[in-house]
Amino acid sequence: APHQTIDVHDLLDATLTMFQGKIPTGVRTVREYDRTLPPVPAYAAELNQVWTNLIDNALGAMGPEGTLTLRTGRDGDMLTVEVADTGPGIAPEIRSRIFEPFFTTKPVGEGTGLGLDISYRIVVKKHHGDIRVRSAPGATAFCVLLPLAAAPA
Ligand code: ADP
Ligand code: MG
Repeated sequence: APHQTIDVHDLLDATLTMFQGKIPTGVRTVREYDRTLPPVPAYAAELNQVWTNLIDNALGAMGPEGTLTLRTGRDGDMLTVEVADTGPGIAPEIRSRIFEPFFTTKPVGEGTGLGLDISYRIVVKKHHGDIRVRSAPGATAFCVLLPLAAAPA
């Protein structure tokens, strides 16, 4: 488990800064942060990769217009980070496959199909957390759960 603790809000803001200039003017970014949440044990560079993958997917799904929401909260002993978009959603028939390596619905050259596979491995294997998806036409959200405290050794 990670030795450092990290403020997920600082990390989300740092990731958003990297997207500056790449977010279309018609896409609104909303941050709903629960600032009372404590720092969590985490690997900053890896989590930055996760937020980057999820935001990249959200922006890709929405195109020129929509709302990107970053939301933090708490679910029992887990901290939650939700990346939500107002894109078309994930078709039910592919939902079970999106975390598979190389699974992509993007044109050749645009998607590697590795973003969610890598994100899953970072969150589940390295942080002992989980990733959940909710999706309907017009509303998709990926929720990353991270343990609030390191598991006892
Ligand atoms: P890539 O982005 O290279 O296609 P990912 O592993 O990041 O690979 O995502 C796999 C697939 O999951 C995407 O091609 C897309 O079909 C689906 N997907 C992921 N995020 C979203 C989203 N926010 N809205 C709709 N579909 C999504
Ligand atoms: Mg992707």
